[in-house]
Amino acid sequence: MSPPLPLCDAHCHLADARFAADLPEVIARARAAGVVAIHAVAAEEADWEALRVLGEKYPDFLAISFGMHPWFVAGAAAGWEKRLRRLLASGPYGVGETGLDGKIPGGVTQAQRDAFRCQLDLAEEFSRPVSVHLRGAWDEAWKILCERDNARSLVLLHSFSGPAAWLPELERHNLFVSFGGAPTRPNARKPLALAAAAPAGRVLLESDAPDQTPWPHCREKTRNEPAFLGEIASALAAARGETPAQTAAETATAYRAFTAGARRAPPA
Ligand SMILES: [Zn+2]
Repeated sequence: MSPPLPLCDAHCHLADARFAADLPEVIARARAAGVVAIHAVAAEEADWEALRVLGEKYPDFLAISFGMHPWFVAGAAAGWEKRLRRLLASGPYGVGETGLDGKIPGGVTQAQRDAFRCQLDLAEEFSRPVSVHLRGAWDEAWKILCERDNARSLVLLHSFSGPAAWLPELERHNLFVSFGGAPTRPNARKPLALAAAAPAGRVLLESDAPDQTPWPHCREKTRNEPAFLGEIASALAAARGETPAQTAAETATAYRAFTAGARRAPPA
């Protein structure tokens, strides 16, 4: 049997409580499945210290980002922006995840917008990559992203489900997209069409673990883990008319480019 393809996971929540009991085993299973690098992102401030410690423990395996997800902005403790700034100044860390979510109760709030702009500004100030969650609010998000024209920081639109018309514009705006479990579903249509149309060099693979468990693992397991990234790579390869080896290589190159400002060492 040939060894598994080397895969890079562009978006994973390793500080999530659902990994607290067995994280070393989760990482060992990911490595055994061919995962050579994981970008671990924060959802809220409670994740930051755990991620910082993990980044020191696995310097050649993990890239780390700190941020405030739009779902947690309303409950964030005052002064989080200052504490985030201090952390970013302390080492090679990315920003995220941040973004806008128009589908949560109440829709996009001014606090969400302010937090998104603040984190894009911090990414620019420190020249760090920024990971973005977008659901709904597409026109507004596009306006904010285009305000950054001439910005140097790289932006990853994770679990991309937005307008196909954005795809030809990615390079011009320093944007990347990543795809997770959605293209693996037997009834997937839109995610496959987006994956097929995304320009080479701008596409990354992600688990979004512990959420978005890919098919067929989602039949038995509710918790996703990066060891299942191979299924996502296969679905993406089929959608793009590539071999899984091509998809693995292209997405790894894009991963290295995107995460360069968020890691201590190049991936193995
Ligand atoms: Zn996420």
